[in-house]
Parts: sequence; structure tokens; C-alpha cells
Amino acid sequence: MSKPKIVILGAGYGGMMATVRLTKELSIDDADITLVNKHNYHYQTTWLHEAAAGTIHHDRTRMLIKNVINTKRVNFVQDSVKTIDRENHKVLLKNGEIDYDYLVIALGFESNTFGIKGLEENAFAIRSVNTARKIREHIEYKFASYNSDPDAKDSDLTIIVGGAGLSGVEFLGELVDRIPELCKEYDIDPKKVRIVDVEGMPFVLPPFDRELANYAQEYLESKGVEFKLSTFIKEATSEGVKVQKKDSEELEEIQAGTVVWTGGVKANHIPAESGFETNRGKIQVTGDLRSPEDDHVFAIGDVAVVFPPNAERPYPPTAQIAIQEAENLAKNMKHILKGEATEDFVYKPKGTVASLGEKEAIGVVFDHKLTGKPAAAMKKVIDDRYLLMLGGVGLVLKKGKLKLL
Ligand code: FAD
Repeated sequence: MSKPKIVILGAGYGGMMATVRLTKELSIDDADITLVNKHNYHYQTTWLHEAAAGTIHHDRTRMLIKNVINTKRVNFVQDSVKTIDRENHKVLLKNGEIDYDYLVIALGFESNTFGIKGLEENAFAIRSVNTARKIREHIEYKFASYNSDPDAKDSDLTIIVGGAGLSGVEFLGELVDRIPELCKEYDIDPKKVRIVDVEGMPFVLPPFDRELANYAQEYLESKGVEFKLSTFIKEATSEGVKVQKKDSEELEEIQAGTVVWTGGVKANHIPAESGFETNRGKIQVTGDLRSPEDDHVFAIGDVAVVFPPNAERPYPPTAQIAIQEAENLAKNMKHILKGEATEDFVYKPKGTVASLGEKEAIGVVFDHKLTGKPAAAMKKVIDDRYLLMLGGVGLVLKKGKLKLL
């Protein structure tokens, strides 16, 4: 009898952890496992703000998939998923197709510009290694050109960040570390540089504790960041952005050399376009993380939506929940293949830390509030813990942030 085929789409936090855990939970005779991803590397999305600002090289955020998974147990296919043909249990790829008995959709997120005029064309988004690399190179080019290009303007040194959620604030934290280095390198007076954050809410970091969020805002302001709160980006142009304060009719134009939009993400478009019923683009999964329409299909990470018991709002999309979902999925796959009952997913939030550059951060970890250096150290512990879970001590030593040796 042929073995069941398990196909995992996407090698982000959810897909990688699912692959690694499945090879531990199942034996070679239990199933054939295939992982499909568009790149031959896995990247740490939660480090991309650092690569985008240029405070770390983008190679620190990524690792070759074949160096992390057990290639004797997992067939890795580097290709782009085009669509899922549920009726025939097939995934159509750019360069072929693949059959499945069980499918795990872990295709992650896309940037959401909410239809704001010009944003797609004129703003960058921190989404992948490629987009982070482009942002770093663009900002560096603006600084490098300032003293050599006769047409350069002071506003070329202005950076607009759209959104003051986790990724926006973390990116600002990296920028305030990076800009002094760029100024030194390209002989630029730091006073000429503007970093402006535009946020529609009246405060930064909406889901965070207010005291911690205020700490983050005050720290960033002390480093020169200007916050325009209760203010919306109405349009992005090649010259900058047009913004409007809540309850005001007036549009203000801010000229800038760089606009980075961090104001929203949405689920990868493939599940909805493949005909899955979705809730704002995400598959609203059953207790054991399956599609309610097809119990051979699982969804984890940013393509899935899970509600806390009796709550109206779902858990926010995070790497933390994607990893825990992957662990649950691997256990349940073993149960299913043995004909046993599955276990419902129970999220165990461990807290969240937002970095504010290399040495500052804020966060809540196991109900304890942290700021400053202890929070920054905790952020590195969280980052390294993931590497440990994924690839053991070897991966921590190779890619980790805590300099233990
Ligand atoms: P992803 O990590 O997005 O992975 C999806 C994978 O699928 C990628 O490898 C992608 O290349 C691949 N893929 C996509 N489309 C295709 C296709 N068509 N064909 C083949 N492959 C494809 N979360 C936290 O918990 N803590 C944090 O501190 C935190 N900080 C963040 C900071 C930033 C700057 C950003 C942008 C996000 C942050 N997040 C954080 C959120 C977190 O990164 C996401 O929730 C997480 O990445 C979701 O994991 P995932 O496995 O669902 O998808």
C-alpha cells in the first residue's frame, strides 16, 4: 500500500516547524513528506526590520532549507504555488504539479495597502528578504547621492514610516541606530535627516500595555522620530506622502525620499483564490486547525484565523502562534494516521517583546513588564529559542543573536 502524501506549502515559521516536527513525530514508513517553497531558503520574518534598516546583513535572517530539514525524510521542492485544486487533491505550481493526501497551507502574509492611492507603486513594504534588501539599498543610495548628486534635496533624507504597530515601531528602532552611521559614512549633518511616523490611531503599538507603548514612543522621540498620530496617509507619490489629520479637511504634503508602509498585512491570496471559504482572506479553521470544508487540508500561521474561546476578535497573526500551531499539527497528523482522535489547538501566549534597536526594547513576558536592556536581552532569547527549536544548538551558534561564545 502506498504511503499517505503530506504536502506543506510555505517554509516560514509555520511550514518549517511543521516539517521539522513531522519528521520527529512520524517514522519513514508512516508518510511521504514534501515541502514546497518559492525560495531555497527560510527567512526569519521577525528580523526583517533589521535587514531593511541595514543594522544586520540580510544573510543573518535566512538559512538554506536543506541545512535545516532532514533531506532523507523530506522532499523539498523549490517552486511557486499557483493554486490548489481541492477536487483533485493537487497543488499547481509554476513549474509542475504535486498530489497530496494531506495538505498543510502555511503561505503566510502579504502587505495590505487598503487601496490607499499610490502606496503600491511608491512605498516599500517589509515582507521578504528581497523587499528588506531593496529598502536598505534605497535608503543607502539616497544618503550616498546627497553630496554627489547636484539635484539632491534635503527631503531625500526624509524617511516616512506608515504605521506604528509592532513592525513599524521595530523598524523605527533600527533606523535610529542606523541613521547616525549613515550620516557619518556619507558626511551628512544628522540634523538634516527626518524620520516621520504616520499612524491613524491616537497612540503607538495599539495591542501593547499603554505604559510600555509610551516608553517606546518617548524613547524614539528622544532619538528624533516625529510621530503624527490620529493621522492617515491619503496618498503616496514619487515625492512623498499626503496625510490628513483625523477630523480635519486639510491635506498636508510631506516630501520624502523613502516611504515604508508597515500599516497592515493580509493573508496570502492563494487560499481564497483557490475557492476556500475565508474570513477576510484567512481560513477560519476548526479546533484541530483544518479547513471546515475539507478535513484533508490544514491551515496554520498567517493564512489561518483562530478565535480565543468566547471572544469576538481572533488572535493576532504572529510567529509565536504559527509555531505553536505547527507543533499541534504534527501531533495531530500522527493521531490521524493511527486512526486516533485529534487534539484541539490551545494557544499558550508567552508574551511579546518589541525591539527598539540593538539595546532597547519593551515587552511583557509571562505577565512581567520589561523595558530597556533586560527587554532587549529577552528579545534575543526569544529569537534564539526559535533557532534552538528548529535546528538545535548548531543553528543557534551559526545564526543566533546572543553572543555566548
Ligand atoms: P511566513 O513566515 O510569512 O512564511 C510564509 C512562507 O511562504 C515564506 O517562506 C514565503 O516565501 C512562502 N510563500 C509565500 N507565497 C508562496 C508561494 N506562492 N509559493 C511558494 N512559497 C510561498 N511575530 C511575532 O510573533 N513576534 C514578533 O516580534 C514579530 N515581529 C515582526 C516584525 C516584522 C517586521 C514583521 C513583518 C512581522 C513580525 N511578526 C512578529 C509577524 C510574523 O512574522 C508573522 O506572523 C509570521 O511570519 C507568520 O508565519 P507564517 O509561517 O504564517 O508565514
